[in-house]
Amino acid sequence: MKEIILGKSVKGKEIKGYYFGDETAFNKTLIVGGIHGVEPQSAKVCELYINDVKDKLFPKDCFLALIPCINPDGIELKTRGNANGVDLNRNFPSSGWRSVPLASNNAYYPGVKPASEPETQIIVNLLNKLNFKKIIAIHTNHTIQFPNPPMVNYDGEQSRELSEKLGVAIGLLSHHDIGYPTPGSLGVWIGNDLKKISVTVELDDTKNSDELYKKHGIMFEVGILG
Ligand SMILES: [Zn+2]
Repeated sequence: MKEIILGKSVKGKEIKGYYFGDETAFNKTLIVGGIHGVEPQSAKVCELYINDVKDKLFPKDCFLALIPCINPDGIELKTRGNANGVDLNRNFPSSGWRSVPLASNNAYYPGVKPASEPETQIIVNLLNKLNFKKIIAIHTNHTIQFPNPPMVNYDGEQSRELSEKLGVAIGLLSHHDIGYPTPGSLGVWIGNDLKKISVTVELDDTKNSDELYKKHGIMFEVGILG
């Protein structure tokens, strides 16, 4: 395992990535947690996985880049968005990205332009640098405006197989429709625009990270193997 400083948040916090396995492998996976500051368990389950496997043998012919927490400012501030009030999961350069006026009560504010935020840029740059086969985003189903059940959500038909595999492995429903539009989300950008395998795991927000890791921790291995 290699620890890399990928960049810094708006408030200057280091954003770390953890690399496992062979960087030249075809089967490359990017897993991202902590996208929404109000979903701290999504970052903690990633940290629990790192602790669990850091001294173990990594699956052959696979590579994993894991970013446990892409939004450390949001986690500290307990806000969905980053320190600029931007919802990172509406800030990716997908074709459906659209600007909306900044309003103090808009937790889904997408920023002034696509990839305006340093946290978003870290992922965009990593995608440009390493040719990932699949990207898995980990969230909890924390409700602000639009509720959705815990589920495994996917974007693009190419993502269905992995989503179904993950759904079976961790006991959650796999579905392509989360129930509301998500322009500029990481999942939509990866799955619909880049046509790569894109799965978003929405864990049960009412559970703590230990419970979630115990119940669903197998998602990492299943996701890596694909
Ligand atoms: Zn979320």
